[in-house]
Amino acid sequence: MTQPGDEPASELPPGFRWPDGIRAAACFTFDLDAESPILWDHPEAAGYLDVMSHQAYGPRTGVPRLLRLLERVGIRATFFVPGFSAERWPEAVRSIRDAGHEIGHHGYLHEGARGATEAQLEARLLRGLEALDAVAGVRPIGYRAPTWEMSYAMPGILARHDFRYDSGLMDADHPYRLATSAEPGAATLVELPAHWALDDWEPYVYLPGLSGSGVIARPTEVLERWTLELEALTAEGGLFMLTNHPFVSGRASRALALETLIRRAQGTAGLWIATCGEVAAHVETLDLAPVVHEPPVVPAGWHER
Ligand code: ZN
Repeated sequence: MTQPGDEPASELPPGFRWPDGIRAAACFTFDLDAESPILWDHPEAAGYLDVMSHQAYGPRTGVPRLLRLLERVGIRATFFVPGFSAERWPEAVRSIRDAGHEIGHHGYLHEGARGATEAQLEARLLRGLEALDAVAGVRPIGYRAPTWEMSYAMPGILARHDFRYDSGLMDADHPYRLATSAEPGAATLVELPAHWALDDWEPYVYLPGLSGSGVIARPTEVLERWTLELEALTAEGGLFMLTNHPFVSGRASRALALETLIRRAQGTAGLWIATCGEVAAHVETLDLAPVVHEPPVVPAGWHER
């Protein structure tokens, strides 16, 4: 167990530091997926009232509860919103905006990126931007890929459209500069890494035949898991990036567990609780060597050996 004022247990990446007096950071984020991911993967589910009501719980019931929770604990969060969710649930999105939370981009219909062309990826990005603008007058600076499916082309598309950060790559504990290509002087974004283990979908979602592991974890078990990660990442001087969904963690006992976690974070000395945009703005002030991602190249013919 770390004590207040402890130095990070390991060295920070070269050039990386948190603001003065801060030793680690936590972002509490919510992806307002609602019906979008189900409709993308299973268009026929639009005709299933039971499934649509399960997803509508997010904007209809989860968002108001989570906004009350966030007001009670006094923190600002980041909500990543698919354009389709915004069009279908405009009042929910406007209530998030009016409560002072950050709104980020999360695709239009929560599209997966596998096999998509660069033109398709860009068109989806633009459609999502139009929806958020039309519904809430919001122009996000941050992007989270639906299902965290990220094409190598996407960082460049984001930079072309003036996005400043992405949140969803999984190769680091600390934010970093993400190069949009290997070209010297290529544009960069800030990357705010995430991970499946800090996402509520995996332990909680149960949608027979459509999604979920089939096991619904106990909120106390999830709280224990996330608390240990919070403590460990704080000790490492890292970024705790928690991803929740209003249709999942907006449910009463899960929201209660989340509130317990947030209060523990607030009681952790030197831990900065911030929106993704605030963390990205800090990282932009650092002199960090950009990280270049290039696809691995397997020796020709290897699979045929
Ligand atoms: Zn999502």
